[in-house]
Amino acid sequence: MTVSPEAHAGGVTTRTGGEDVVVRIDALHKSFGEKQVLRGIDLEVRSGEVVCVIGPSGSGKSTLLRCVNLLEEPTGGSIEVLGTEVTDPDVDIDHVRTHVGMVFQQFNLFTHRTVLDNCTMAQRTVLRRSRAEAERVARENLARVGLAGTESLMPAQLSGGMQQRVAIARALSMDPQLMLFDEPTSALDPELVGDVLGVMRDLAEGGMTMIVVTHEMAFAREVGDRVVFMDGGVVVEDGPADEVIGAPREERTREFLQRVL
Ligand code: ADP
Ligand code: MG
Repeated sequence: MTVSPEAHAGGVTTRTGGEDVVVRIDALHKSFGEKQVLRGIDLEVRSGEVVCVIGPSGSGKSTLLRCVNLLEEPTGGSIEVLGTEVTDPDVDIDHVRTHVGMVFQQFNLFTHRTVLDNCTMAQRTVLRRSRAEAERVARENLARVGLAGTESLMPAQLSGGMQQRVAIARALSMDPQLMLFDEPTSALDPELVGDVLGVMRDLAEGGMTMIVVTHEMAFAREVGDRVVFMDGGVVVEDGPADEVIGAPREERTREFLQRVL
């Protein structure tokens, strides 16, 4: 299974220091009432990079991802996505979201729609593609995640791993320039995890820019260009995957890895 390079071409990226920055997060803060969840996050993701975010439960990983496409509104700092300052009050966030795919732990498929409909609905309403075009793109992406032939099935007829791959195909059908994954394999039975990680690995190898929150340390180490370790709402360590997982500099990272590896 391969990913076409076109899927990644034509990015609306911003050039800084000669590099294509897809996401730039500066001093990001997020509180829920009195509770400070993100306490000053700085993070840059360049075009084609795969950044894996690891860290204990409650450290703010999901909140960070949700701030990137404004499912949560930051309380401080700034976030630039694909050259647009998403924290600008006047931003057309729907325009940015169109280019950002998100895959959640719970697949969030429309349960009363077929697999094909799940992959065509947003294409038709948001991108205004014709039915024929949307179906062509959907079939192509279903094939890419190994699900050709499932088009007319309902989500409940598929295994969890297949449903998650439908969710990925649905996101890819929007031609995203950035993919956000929030623990995409955490709700799956162990024997179904590999197929989903395989699809994500193919995407990464095809050049997709990805931020992946995951507990799969082997995946983070092999597929991640960088690993970011978060704890208590801050980035404790950020570096090459091999270094952060293989030879962490920070004591807190070492403690976490000892618990999960
Ligand atoms: P992680 O994904 O690393 O497990 P989260 O980002 O989900 O962490 O949550 C970080 C903290 O923020 C947790 O203490 C959680 O209870 C809190 N939190 C997340 N979302 C909300 C919310 N909508 N309202 C209040 N607290 C929240
Ligand atoms: Mg989470």
